[in-house]
Formats: sequence, structure tokens, C-alpha cells
Amino acid sequence: MQREPSPALAWCAPAFFLLAVAAGVAIVFRRPLSLFAGVLSALAAVPVGWVIVSALWPAKAERRCPACGKDALQRLDQRATHGLACRACGFRDESASAWLLAEEEGPLEEIVLAERGRKLPTGPVDSPRQTG
Ligand SMILES: [Zn+2]
Repeated sequence: MQREPSPALAWCAPAFFLLAVAAGVAIVFRRPLSLFAGVLSALAAVPVGWVIVSALWPAKAERRCPACGKDALQRLDQRATHGLACRACGFRDESASAWLLAEEEGPLEEIVLAERGRKLPTGPVDSPRQTG
């Protein structure tokens, strides 16, 4: 699902682009040293902040169904990290990622190793194991 941008924001976009160009021209001609220091400190602070936010507020699994909106999503297969089904309305999506649901419900190592084992010799590419 893709959200449409608001019409007011779409109308303001050319003005924002012009302001960005004007700011770039002003930076080139005035060469403010404080801006350089600000940009450098922002470049250093953003990754550190991202790590801190990700560590303190980890992602939660989205259990709201895209069809009916109820918190009833579950994994289709308990041994896989993809495929979602809704208990309330019967919605199914076999290709949707269920990684976060699987991560919340238990250890992922067994699932990942089992999926690797299942997918080994399939595919059109020749592998050294195949003879002939
Ligand atoms: Zn549903």
C-alpha cells in the first residue's frame, strides 16, 4: 500500500527545491565555517543516534491485518519466516515477510537452518555437487 502525498505538500515542493538551490548558492559564496562544523557533527551524530534509538526501541512485529485492520495476523507456517494469515477474516499472503513475528515467537536459528537445507540443490545454475 502506497500513500498519496498531500496536495498542499505537492504544491510546496517547487518552492522547497528553489530554497534548497538558494541555500546551496549562499553556502558556496559565503563559506560559513559554522555550517561546515554543524554538518560534520550531524554526520557523526545521526548514525550514533540511530543505533541508540534502535537499541532502546526495537522494532515490533506488525500484527494488524491489511484487509480487516484487526490484530489477528499470524504466520502461515511455523517453520518459515514468510507467509501471513489473518485469523479474523481469512486474509492470506504467502510472500509477505513474517520475520519479525517469527523473531518474537522464538529462536530463528532452527528456521533459518531448515530453510537453507530445503533450498540447496534447486535452481537452474549448475553446482559442483551435480554431476552430468
Ligand atoms: Zn484480517
